[in-house]
Amino acid sequence: SSQPLANQVAIVTGASSGIGAAVAKALAAAGAAVAVNYSGHAEGADDVVQSIEQAGGRAFSVHADVSREDQVQAMFAQTIERYGTVHILVANAGLQQDANFLDMSLAQWQKVIDVNLTGQFLCAREAAREFVRRGVQPAISKAAGKIICMSSVHEVIPWAGHVNYAASKGGVMLLMKSMAQELAPHRIRVNSIGPGAIATPINQEARDTPEEERDLLRLIPYGRIGEPEDIARVAAWLASDEADYITGTTIFADGGMLLYPGFESGG
Ligand code: NAD
Repeated sequence: SSQPLANQVAIVTGASSGIGAAVAKALAAAGAAVAVNYSGHAEGADDVVQSIEQAGGRAFSVHADVSREDQVQAMFAQTIERYGTVHILVANAGLQQDANFLDMSLAQWQKVIDVNLTGQFLCAREAAREFVRRGVQPAISKAAGKIICMSSVHEVIPWAGHVNYAASKGGVMLLMKSMAQELAPHRIRVNSIGPGAIATPINQEARDTPEEERDLLRLIPYGRIGEPEDIARVAAWLASDEADYITGTTIFADGGMLLYPGFESGG
């Protein structure tokens, strides 16, 4: 059908901007009712909800700092109260706190691990608990639930000046795979998306000047910076039964960033 996620409920974290906002809109367009999570100001999330409703979809905005257990549990409780249950989690919230290794503070390290890694653990655990409690609803989806972790090419590529971020995404990779192994008997699918360079507020500074943009493009064989919609389409497909046999894997959407473009001349 044109609405492969009809009658499903999704929570998208960090959905007030960038990739999360595009994912929330794509899941809603595919028929899901969407909880649009934000942690800072509500305006971004409210804009996303409004745009979903104008397109005929269902959504509401819900506050939670994903690194806080009590707030994550409250977000799930509010979503379940409103829409009955949850079928899809897109654990997307993430941030950077960049510093040279020699200068990185414990606070910078801890903040990124708390949000990018512990936040994914907390959200995925609450989602899995609800999926196991409810079980498969055959008329709605072949799986009891779907968890999509927003990882990065930096679950594979080392990143000087960003060791906290790279460590968090490397952690997400084995968190995702271990959850996939443990939850498969419950018919829960767990996968990651690994974006390359996508134009969002998180990396605006790395694209400010034409020189910086040229440097960035040198890392991307396909020759363009990605758009949030490039990632949103992958998320909507991965959440659908079209991807029912896919679990425990990362789908990279990176314009070839992982192809070692420094070697393209053959050396
Ligand atoms: P973004 O800054 O536009 O969005 C990040 C979102 O996470 C924001 O809405 C922010 O408010 C939210 N957030 C931050 N801390 C939070 C917390 N404690 N609780 C809840 N929400 C919180 O950046 P983006 O590029 O859209 O990033 C989304 C995800 O994609 C991140 O996990 C990021 O690591 C990943 N990613 C982005 C790129 C890229 O090139 N943009 C590449 C690879 C991976």
